[in-house]
Amino acid sequence: MIEANNFEVIIGLEIHVELKTKSKMFCGCDANWFGKEPNTLCCPVCLGLPGALPVPNKKAVEWCVMLGLALDCVIPEFSKFDRKNYFYPDLPKGYQISQYDKPFAINGHLVIPSERSESRNLATKGSASLDFSRRLDRGRNDNLRKICIRRVHMEEDTGKLIHAIVNGEKCTLIDFNRSGVPLVEIVTEPDIRSSEEARSFLKKLHQIVRYLGISDADMEKGSMRLEPNISVRKLQSGKDTPLELPSYKVEVKNINSFSFAKKAIDYEIERHINLLTKGEIPKQETRGWDEKKGITYSQRSKEEAHDYRYFPEPDIPPIRWATNFIRQLADQIPELPDKKLERFMKEFGLSEYDVTILTDDKDIADYYERAVSVSRGVRPSSNSRSDPNAKVIANWIINKKADINKTSPEELVKLITQQNQKVNITEEELVKVIKKIIEANPKAVADYKSGKEQALMFLVGQVMRETKGKVGAEFVKKVILKLL
Ligand code: ZN
Ligand code: MN
Repeated sequence: MIEANNFEVIIGLEIHVELKTKSKMFCGCDANWFGKEPNTLCCPVCLGLPGALPVPNKKAVEWCVMLGLALDCVIPEFSKFDRKNYFYPDLPKGYQISQYDKPFAINGHLVIPSERSESRNLATKGSASLDFSRRLDRGRNDNLRKICIRRVHMEEDTGKLIHAIVNGEKCTLIDFNRSGVPLVEIVTEPDIRSSEEARSFLKKLHQIVRYLGISDADMEKGSMRLEPNISVRKLQSGKDTPLELPSYKVEVKNINSFSFAKKAIDYEIERHINLLTKGEIPKQETRGWDEKKGITYSQRSKEEAHDYRYFPEPDIPPIRWATNFIRQLADQIPELPDKKLERFMKEFGLSEYDVTILTDDKDIADYYERAVSVSRGVRPSSNSRSDPNAKVIANWIINKKADINKTSPEELVKLITQQNQKVNITEEELVKVIKKIIEANPKAVADYKSGKEQALMFLVGQVMRETKGKVGAEFVKKVILKLL
C-alpha cells in the first residue's frame, strides 16, 4: 500500500508566453501568426537563412522586463542574448536565440494562496519544505505561500510542425509563420508542493500577464504553454529530511491548460510514488501528456544545459540598462490584481469573494469601476463607504444579469436604476410625488414652458430629493415631461 504521507512532492514550473507585439522578435515580419495562411509571414531572418542578421524588438524586450518587474524580480544592469543549439525540423537555424547566464530578470516571487491542507497532504510537518515556503500573512486569515521565481528571459518561438495526410500518405508539414515570434520564459524555483498549488500559481501568472496587456495568454492558441517538472522524495520518519532535491526530475512538455497541468502532475506523483515504493528511482526524462488517455508518456531522456552548447549570440550586442529607463518601465505597470483586490474591498465595501471575481480579469474590473462611478454621478447622495449601488452593480456583473460585452457601464447603471424603481417605489407613488412637486412649483413649470430648460432640472432635483434618490434622474425627467 502506498503511504502518501511519507513522500514530499517537489514541483518547479517553466512557462512560455508569446508576446503580442506587432512584429517578430528579430525581424519585421508580422508576429500575429495564428490562423494565417502557412509560410506567408516569413523572411530570411526568421527562416534562418545564412547571413541574415537579427535585430531585437525593443517593445518585446521592454515587456519582458516589465513582466520581470511585475513578478518582483531584480533587473540586472547587464544582459545579453545567447544561442541555444539543438537540431529539430521546426528550427532551421539549428539554434534558438535565447538567454543563458544573463537573463533580463532574476530572483522574483509570486504569492499564492496555500492549498496544502486541501491537497493530498503529501507534504507534512517536519519536512524541509518549510524552508522553501515561508508562510506569509497579509493580515487576513488565509495562508499564503511565496513561490520564488528564478528567472524571466527573452527568446524566440519556433516554427510549427503539422502532422497531416497528403494524397493518402502520412507526412509532416512545417509552417514558419510562428518562427521568431517573441517568447518569454518564466522559470520558478522548485517551491511548489502540490498540483493544486501549481494550478494557483499558473492562474495568478496568467492573470498578471493579461493585466500587463503583453500577451493574450490564450492557452488554446498556444500563446501560453506550461511545463511542470516533478519529482518526489521519501521522507524518513523521525529524521530531518536533507535539503537536497531528489536526484532526478521529470519534465512534462507543452501542456495547454491549467487542468491538464494539474492532471499530468497528479499522474506523475502517483507514478513516482509507485516506483519509489518499489525501491526504484524514476528516470530523468521528458514526457508528453496524452489527454485522451489521461496519462503521460516517455518522449526522450532529459538533456542537460551543456548539451545545448550555449554561447553568446555574436550578432546582437549585449544590453546595459540605464536605471532611469527601468524606472520608467516600472511606472508603466498598471495596478496589479492583488493591489486591486484590496482596494476594491476597501473602496466598495465588497466581500473578498465578490472582489476576487470582479478583479479576475482587468476588463471586468475596469468595467465595474466605471459603472460605479457612473452610478455615483447619477446618485450623488450615496457616499463612497457604504454605496448600496456598488454592491448591486457587483451582483449584476457577477451573476451575469447583463452581458457586459454588449451593455456599456452607462447602460448597465440605467438598467439597474429602472429595476430599482420597481423595487423601491411604484410608478403610482412616483406620479403622486411628481404631481405634488408640480403643484408646489408653478413658477418653475411656467419657466420650463416658456423654454427654460434649467427649470426642468430644478423639478427633477425636487422629485429626487422627495424620493430620496430611489429613482434615476433620467426616468424622473421622462415622467415629469409626460405629466406636464
Ligand atoms: Zn521574418
Ligand atoms: Mn524556452
